[in-house]
Amino acid sequence: MKTAAEYAADRVRPEIRATTAYPVAPASGMIKLDAMENPYRLPETLRAKLGAALADVAINRYPDASGSVVKDALRRTLAIDERWSLILGNGSDELIQIVAVSLAKPGATLLAVEPSFVMYRANAMLAQMRYVGVPLRPDFTLDVDAVLAAIQREQPALMFLAYPNNPTGNLFEIADIERIVAAAPGLVVIDEAYHPFAQVSFADRLADHPNAIVMRTLSKLGLAGIRLGYAFGDPAWIAELDKARPPYNLNSLTQAAALTVLEHADVLAAQAAELRDEREKLAALLSRMPMRVYPSAANFVLVRVPDANATFAKLKAAGILIKNLHGWHPLLDNCLRISIGTPAENRALADALMALVG
Ligand code: PMP
Repeated sequence: MKTAAEYAADRVRPEIRATTAYPVAPASGMIKLDAMENPYRLPETLRAKLGAALADVAINRYPDASGSVVKDALRRTLAIDERWSLILGNGSDELIQIVAVSLAKPGATLLAVEPSFVMYRANAMLAQMRYVGVPLRPDFTLDVDAVLAAIQREQPALMFLAYPNNPTGNLFEIADIERIVAAAPGLVVIDEAYHPFAQVSFADRLADHPNAIVMRTLSKLGLAGIRLGYAFGDPAWIAELDKARPPYNLNSLTQAAALTVLEHADVLAAQAAELRDEREKLAALLSRMPMRVYPSAANFVLVRVPDANATFAKLKAAGILIKNLHGWHPLLDNCLRISIGTPAENRALADALMALVG
């Protein structure tokens, strides 16, 4: 009898067999600065309110499949223009997959800059799209001419541009993004996952660019655990994408939690403001150490140290988990990505780094 492993080896697509599942480092008991989470819990009163709201959810029923109540709350709270339709995802990770699947005609190309969010490339593979990565300049700014040339050459059906970019943290020039969108023959998704920390958006320009949509998430704002991403744009795009969305992708606990917390969006906004302040303080501290600190408009900073592997390992041994990007992409040699934590966490990180490299 054939074993399960033999069946799987025969039948699973070779590119999936060759890949590894998305790695998540164990972090129990550590100062966790590796995943761009908001380090703050909700205030006690809001947690109690959340508990009551969740207790009230009829989990014997399927969730609201349209998510229309959550969409209205997002629209109201985040001032999304009434011209645009919304689609909700189980995290923006799911939206990336939905967009890729929807545009993956045979032979279609997905183009992104590099280094950027790894799930763009991963979803090109999953959707069986051709993937083209265009390197950023060594200082992580956009090489507009190279991107325009690649667009001309590759005619991508789909592009992702993260604004600000992960893992580099910088904002590309908005005029450059507009030139790229104008030249693109297909859909361009402007990924604004870090919008609360950048406070700039492509949204105001959407009306001039019928081939663009904006994607965001509640994850970095403080709700990473509930998995809620959203995208908005012309109803013609959103209606098509919505057909590739799994039914009931947003569970009812997520919907109830989002509604409750969005009523108190000021709490999350205040936390984001604190994190922006902390980012500037941490960047200033790190700048005095022998490392290069890259400008960030997100809730993390990217640094280049003399020996990233050693620094990462020693921080880990000291109970501080950050992200080691060495080996991810040639432009990221000896780079580390540090999420912004509480003042105490940032201080602990800075002290530990100072002891290691200072
Ligand atoms: N886009 C970017 C640029 C990201 O950095 C991330 C998270 N690392 C995501 C999308 C996905 O976020 P989520 O699935 O939590 O909404």
